[in-house]
Amino acid sequence: MSLKVLLVEDDRELRQTLHEALKIEGYEVITSASAVDATAVIRHTMCSDQPLDLLILDLGLPDGDGSDLLRSVRAQFNLPILIISARHDDENKVSLLDAGADDYLIKPFHLGELLARMRVALRHRGTTISAAHKNYEHGALRVDLTKHAVTRAGEVVHLTPTEFKLLARLVRQAGQVVTHRQLLLDVWGAEFVEHTHYLRLYMAQLRAKLEDNPTEPRLLLTEPGVGYCLAESISTLLMRS
Ligand code: CA
Repeated sequence: MSLKVLLVEDDRELRQTLHEALKIEGYEVITSASAVDATAVIRHTMCSDQPLDLLILDLGLPDGDGSDLLRSVRAQFNLPILIISARHDDENKVSLLDAGADDYLIKPFHLGELLARMRVALRHRGTTISAAHKNYEHGALRVDLTKHAVTRAGEVVHLTPTEFKLLARLVRQAGQVVTHRQLLLDVWGAEFVEHTHYLRLYMAQLRAKLEDNPTEPRLLLTEPGVGYCLAESISTLLMRS
């Protein structure tokens, strides 16, 4: 059965282009051009026997803001949500990711990038227990969260408990940006969500231990003003190809 996607976009041309492209990729696509219509479609389909698998949501809609729709959908359903928007200020992006968006693409974007991010978002649905998120490998690096083991080219890498906790948090969502706030919350706790300097310090330590060239990171990537992303695991890339 093909995956069901709702595309909410008021720009007619973009909506049609994406609709065609996603259909060619094998997705079953429903489109909507307004917040009111999208709300009705979501309510209807999520209660049917073939609920939506993914929501692609534009922010600037004629009858409302996509971010309100994001919050109301997130409050009710565990559905991957990709935001597509022409707005590109970091603060907005962070608040949308914090509000439960799985990812955020700035227009104009390449179709290939949208498809890749859709696959990541779909794979991460209801994730934390799947085996793919307990093991990570990329280049010479291997992380086994169950065994608490980190190796580089077969050599054991010694991490402090906090470094390990931070790395483990990123491994669980490899390939996706995790916001500063989320990382601080999950690794240090609620009272530390403003302490972004902790993150900078610990990311530098992790890079020094894990990257071939810490000044040009290939694994622990910075999303400026937003958060960090661990490059996707080789095994998940292979699984997909
Ligand atoms: Ca729009």
